[in-house]
Amino acid sequence: MSDKNIDPLKRVEDQLKKCVKCGACRTNCPAFAAFQREPAVARGKVALAQHILTDDIDLDDQTYLAMSKCLLCGSCVEKCPNDVPTDEIVIAARESLAQKRGLTTFHAAVGQVIKNRGRMKMGAKMASLLGPLFFKKVPETSGLRLRFPVPFIGAKRYIPEIAKNSFIDQHPEVIPGEPGKPRIAFFVGCMTNFVYTDVGEAALALFRHLGCTIIIPKGQQCCGLPGMSGGDIETVRSLAESNLAEFEKYDVDYVMTACATCGGALHRLYPLVVGKRNPELRERLESLAKKTVDASQLLQLLGLDPAQTGDGEELRVTYHDPCHLRTRGIVKQPRELLRATPGVELIEMEGADKCCGLGGTFNVYHYDSSMDINAGKSEAIIATGAEVVATGCPGCMMQLSDGLKQHGSNVEVLHTVQLLARGIKQ
Ligand code: SF4
Ligand code: SF4
Repeated sequence: MSDKNIDPLKRVEDQLKKCVKCGACRTNCPAFAAFQREPAVARGKVALAQHILTDDIDLDDQTYLAMSKCLLCGSCVEKCPNDVPTDEIVIAARESLAQKRGLTTFHAAVGQVIKNRGRMKMGAKMASLLGPLFFKKVPETSGLRLRFPVPFIGAKRYIPEIAKNSFIDQHPEVIPGEPGKPRIAFFVGCMTNFVYTDVGEAALALFRHLGCTIIIPKGQQCCGLPGMSGGDIETVRSLAESNLAEFEKYDVDYVMTACATCGGALHRLYPLVVGKRNPELRERLESLAKKTVDASQLLQLLGLDPAQTGDGEELRVTYHDPCHLRTRGIVKQPRELLRATPGVELIEMEGADKCCGLGGTFNVYHYDSSMDINAGKSEAIIATGAEVVATGCPGCMMQLSDGLKQHGSNVEVLHTVQLLARGIKQ
């Protein structure tokens, strides 16, 4: 039997057996806090996955819904005394459900959008042009709210504006640096490319300041994480293969991303999820993973001195850990860079390492619960008295902005690289 025909849960069967039902995973599970039901916590997910594997449960909407109540934040994995990889188990269970009963209409539509960069680009262009018909501006921000509710997007949701021109279209593919300095390929990610283009500009300015050659492969695509949320591993595989081919064209020292989610995909989930199912890609995916670094990691490694790139403005700043940086151990680097930035006073918030509630498509599928999870985060940010909350993920930026606006707060949400690059003329 080809590897691809095996029930995805078979691949994690031994891991399922490691769960001793101790319940330690309840402590920091945002889904358990929001739903207060056993199936929402890791222990419940593991039990449910066992039943899906042994085929002794109805694969009905209730089963699907229970498995959708996970943000893949990895908190349970960090707390588990037996190293049960619940996030990997949930991904396998969602793929198994998708194989046995098909993708949901929503996730099938997501797959169609993310696997076609041209379609995504056209959609972003249309959204930018037709935005005023559907959205009204939120005063004093660069964000929008819908004029009327549409499926999956509530009227109270704060939505950032789509950029008029994508980041990738605004730059040449190769930006030469100084001889002998590192060559970096930039994995831009959809949110930076179409929405937060200023994040891309700030990252670019910092690495140019360090003399690096920067390559922005024009054919790069979505990392595929939204497909992983719905069990659409075939779409993730096709995107991983296409991104591999695109990034292998160049001889580079690093593949850098300023998006925690994209970095999590390239560094951890491609080898773990795609590599395990597609042995022919495994070695190449592992080699891409080894080169993948977060912008904050690489800036520190290359010796950025924020005293030369910051603008010196006095600012009280707090920092939110994106799950896809925290689970890769990238927590010190952004804080150390921020502390070294003249004028920046870094104030730690309560629960900086807690998930913001986004969780990929969880935020679309379970919007109210996602915002319940976010409420604690917004309150913690406001309690610090900070003027700015910095983070390392454009997805978290959108979620934090939404929560803060709904709390009536004007705390500005910025990416770490935006604060570091404020003194560089861009
Ligand atoms: S902490 Fe680990 S072993 Fe304990 S119930 Fe949760 S998943 Fe199972
Ligand atoms: S990955 Fe996060 S949301 Fe999912 S079960 Fe674990 S702690 Fe809960």
